[in-house]
Amino acid sequence: MDRQLLKGKVALVTGAATGIGRATALALTDAGAHVWVNHLAQAELARQLCQTVEAMGGRAQCIEADVGSPAAVAAMFEQIVAEGPLDLLVNNAGIILEKPFLDTTEQDWAQVLDVDLHGVYRCAQHAIKHMQPRGGGAIVNVASDLGFLGRSDYSAYCTAKAGVIGLTRSLAREFAARGIRVNAVAPGPIATAMVSPENMSAEWMAKELDIPMARLGTPEEVAAAIVFLLSPQASYFTGQILGPNGGSWMGA
Ligand code: NAD
Repeated sequence: MDRQLLKGKVALVTGAATGIGRATALALTDAGAHVWVNHLAQAELARQLCQTVEAMGGRAQCIEADVGSPAAVAAMFEQIVAEGPLDLLVNNAGIILEKPFLDTTEQDWAQVLDVDLHGVYRCAQHAIKHMQPRGGGAIVNVASDLGFLGRSDYSAYCTAKAGVIGLTRSLAREFAARGIRVNAVAPGPIATAMVSPENMSAEWMAKELDIPMARLGTPEEVAAAIVFLLSPQASYFTGQILGPNGGSWMGA
């Protein structure tokens, strides 16, 4: 990766201690950005990631916050902007819930929506309040192909991810004239802790792999799309949903 691509830019990646978030933090480092590594109760993994970044000649700082908590998100942004400007935001933190719709409780529904959708709203609002007076910035939200496709037994997750797509397009329209680009990625099945043969039933995995490329994607394949969307190479992209998905979804 070109170390000049995002040289001097400061990025926050939520849920960055593992999976796609971790790969994104490393890819951002490769592109020359400084990275805030947000995590929730994963201090050791986050610390190790920051060490890896430093070993690569980059700069990363760990910051713990539950994106499901308005107060924690406010405190996180307060700390970040007290140390300097923030140019880039990756709303990656997420949880998944496999449950038949009729068994999905109010609490289940609220928990998934609060992290996967409201967390994106909260972080984007804080980031934009900071970016707007500075004249610009870029945000990438991590949605899912399931936000387009829907899926049995994943109603809360699919609803949240569909919401992320709507939020992305709305923010893109609202802030384009103010220099803030807002895009999303909608990955297909990616080999992370969230989607692994250890965590998912054989039936789930078989369905998940019923896609043209017949393999799981890698976190690095998603990270490359995220870094592209954040970079000046994507200067005419806003409100777009890129799909690193092996062909699982080919719609708009
Ligand atoms: P992952 O479980 O490794 O990553 C999710 C991260 O979010 C974890 O580090 C977790 O600790 C963090 N997190 C969860 N709740 C949080 C909270 N309240 N506050 C802060 N951090 C929190 O799995 P992943 O696959 O890397 O998932 C990253 C994103 O990609 C998620 O938004 C997920 O929905 C999305 N996604 C994943 C896939 C896939 O197949 N793996 C496909 C499409 C979309």
